[in-house]
Amino acid sequence: MKDYEIVVGLEVHAELNTKTKIYCSCKNSFGGEVNTQCCPVCTGMPGALPVLNRKVVEYAVRMGHATGCKIHTLLKQDRKNYYYPDLPKAYQISQFDIPLCYDGAVEFMLNGETKRVGITRIHIEEDAGKLLHQEGIPYSLVDLNRCGVPLIEIVSEPDLRSSQEAREYLETIRTILMYIGISDCKMQEGSIRCDVNVSVRPRGSAEFGTRCEMKNINTFSGAQRAIDYEAARQIEILEQGGVVTQETRRWDDEKGVNVLLRSKEDAQDYRYFPEPDIPPFSLEQAWIDRLKEEIPELPNEKTRRYVLDYHLSETDAGLISRSYARAVYFDACTVIDPKLAKAAANWILGDIAKYLNERGEEIDLFPVAPTRLMALLQLVDRGTISGSAAKKVLSIMLEDASEPMAIVEREGLVQNSNEEEMAGIVEAVLAANPGMIEEYRGGRTNVLGFLVGQCMKASKGKGNPKLINQLLLERLK
Ligand SMILES: [Zn+2]
Repeated sequence: MKDYEIVVGLEVHAELNTKTKIYCSCKNSFGGEVNTQCCPVCTGMPGALPVLNRKVVEYAVRMGHATGCKIHTLLKQDRKNYYYPDLPKAYQISQFDIPLCYDGAVEFMLNGETKRVGITRIHIEEDAGKLLHQEGIPYSLVDLNRCGVPLIEIVSEPDLRSSQEAREYLETIRTILMYIGISDCKMQEGSIRCDVNVSVRPRGSAEFGTRCEMKNINTFSGAQRAIDYEAARQIEILEQGGVVTQETRRWDDEKGVNVLLRSKEDAQDYRYFPEPDIPPFSLEQAWIDRLKEEIPELPNEKTRRYVLDYHLSETDAGLISRSYARAVYFDACTVIDPKLAKAAANWILGDIAKYLNERGEEIDLFPVAPTRLMALLQLVDRGTISGSAAKKVLSIMLEDASEPMAIVEREGLVQNSNEEEMAGIVEAVLAANPGMIEEYRGGRTNVLGFLVGQCMKASKGKGNPKLINQLLLERLK
């Protein structure tokens, strides 16, 4: 079998979290009673006229800036014509030849290497309604609440070379959307969906193979599986001497297979034409520039800052910044006590991550707020408690709102840092193990660990190990 390379391009649809819809004043929120959040405009009644929501343009421009895109100052919208029962107007207002944002890129780290993926374009458009298929009834119902919900479509260049890269790219887009606050990114509510374009070619070939598209995949893991399946399907066709034909296929994530939906439609099939109800207009350059200045610190910049300011490893810094919730939590910790930033990172990526992973939760639901975590870490830093005692205190704090110091006192976990007392213990342990002193001086320095352990035991686990270590070293010199 030849060695094949996978080529993937993605179209991500993200719902924007504006208060109202894109062309009317209906509420833009998920979960309302069916057909209660719609009006003559979004349901496409004859004569109803759309008015573009300024916030939608603002949010899309923000995403353009966050992905290094250029912004067109001419805002032009187009009708994309197609018939489907969830689209009463029989057209979708979108953007065709002049997308709002174009020619950008995003970068992410994968397996220690920086991957750059070009962003072809980002345009604004409206969502369609939703068909409801109920068990036992021989027809479908339509919920039009989602008609006119604002979307941005982010189209990537075919720069992705594996399903894993595609998944990382999707995570990166999601993180950026969260950072700039324009989408809730709730996968279970369908607020991010993607269309996947896959082709394969012999490795080393400069030409692209024929691509197939799978639409409306609503989980990142599903997208990854769909890409692997489709690539394998195409390779098998080529290996058998066949030809891949351009198609739209439907990915069935439950069965793990895709099936032919239709031979691929081309742009001309949608008979795009300029939207007559919203003539093109110009955006002010000053407004576009101001939005750029307001872009907050993005994940890659955060990673760099964490490495520079707090001496985190690049891996740890990346693990924190690529989760919006985690970065918010960590930033709050560093504001409280910047010199304990590294300790906070270790806890966040260690014990706390383990606790959250077991529950499938993000850190915004973690019961211990940054202020309380930092109060605990300060106790360790001052030598009031040991690191292992801190683990115990944290596990109590998960269900107990008391201050860490109160828990430490109640549980009797205060570390004994009384130098005189500890020196006494050290003397007693050395007196009981005279051979060890000779061994240590003879070069077997690993007996130190044993002696520290004996002292800890003699102090009933309360001794300050750092102090004991230091006292032992002085005596063994
Ligand atoms: Zn409406």
